[in-house]
Amino acid sequence: MNFNEYPIDSLMYITNRPEIVFTHGKGSWLYDNTGKRYLDFIQGWAVNSLGHCNDGVVEALTQQARTLINPSPAFYNEPMAKLAQLLTQHSCFDKVFFTNSGAEANEGAIKLARKWGKKFKGGAYEIITFDHSFHGRTIATMSASGKPGWDTIYAPQVPGFPKADLNDIASVEKLITDKTVAVMLEPIQGEGGVIPASREFMQQLRELTKKHNLLLIVDEVQSGCGRAGTLFAYELSGIEPDVMTLAKGIGSGVPLGALLCKKHVEVFEAGDQGGTYNGNPLMTAAGYSVISQLTAPGFLDGVKARGEYLRTKLLELSAERGFEGERGEGLLRALLLGKDIGNQIVEKARLMQPDGLLLNAARPNLLRFMPALNVTTEEIDQMMAMLRSILDTL
Ligand SMILES: *Cc1c(COP(=O)(O)O)cnc(C)c1O
Repeated sequence: MNFNEYPIDSLMYITNRPEIVFTHGKGSWLYDNTGKRYLDFIQGWAVNSLGHCNDGVVEALTQQARTLINPSPAFYNEPMAKLAQLLTQHSCFDKVFFTNSGAEANEGAIKLARKWGKKFKGGAYEIITFDHSFHGRTIATMSASGKPGWDTIYAPQVPGFPKADLNDIASVEKLITDKTVAVMLEPIQGEGGVIPASREFMQQLRELTKKHNLLLIVDEVQSGCGRAGTLFAYELSGIEPDVMTLAKGIGSGVPLGALLCKKHVEVFEAGDQGGTYNGNPLMTAAGYSVISQLTAPGFLDGVKARGEYLRTKLLELSAERGFEGERGEGLLRALLLGKDIGNQIVEKARLMQPDGLLLNAARPNLLRFMPALNVTTEEIDQMMAMLRSILDTL
């Protein structure tokens, strides 16, 4: 079909989309309606942790679709129980509630913290979050986010989210009052431009929150599930948070998220939390396949090695072209361009012939790389060669 023949006019406008319709994908490659292929370093926005249409995930979905899709969230099902067990075995957390997105997992974390504050901290409800953070697109998670402009789009905001500066412990301490119940942060700010919280800052935060009896909540929707080279990014700083949220990579493309907490924070009572699709066996079966593959012997070592390989290549390019270096962890990295040419590069990369390249400029002065965790070094080399040829045309 030609692009003009697709019924796109009935879709609600939410953003400027290029005139491409993607039809299929495999691993690191996506194919459009004209048969052109694209090397994909966006992967559904760091979502397809195992690449497009991973065999294990497709098999799990197919099997489960034939067996049981949704018995109701008020009943147990096997994939839900098995995935929760796998997550608690491989993390410092004891309890899991499944959601359908990252925003919903964060909404759950906010509710859990407020309930915990009601029960144990005299009704304290304020959650300190950070400038340039991103926690989702519901009204409460937009209010928690520190994205410039988001405080006014759908005003009034949900109150109770004072903002501190990342990697500045004094800015957090200053905001603590008797109303404070928690501190919530992304261990690596993703949408903000791949800005890691330092190991020292994470440790200071853990100490400070312990001292004031506050919950430490990590939003690992983007940094979790192998993306940072460890199963969860909090492991990099050697601390244990009280609450964690996951989504994106946990389903390798399907809508699945999770809210995890330590035993002492498990305060929901019957009716406090739920949702029609939450923990359905179709999505949790996919999640089980994903987490099983990520925790298979050697897999995360491979992610670390490929992350290091990408880091080296980006640093070489940066030195060669006079850019400002790179930052990130594992396979969530940014090349710092030093000037606002990110969007121009993204556009040219997509239009390249014969193969296109899908990149993202999280900010105009940088490129963000979030390939499949099983991307090969050959594909990284291919991406770098394509990027060089684009830079030559600027
Ligand atoms: C993407 C993202 C979210 C929102 O997840 P959705 O599944 O899009 O609702 C929340 N937090 C972080 C850190 C994210 O990167």
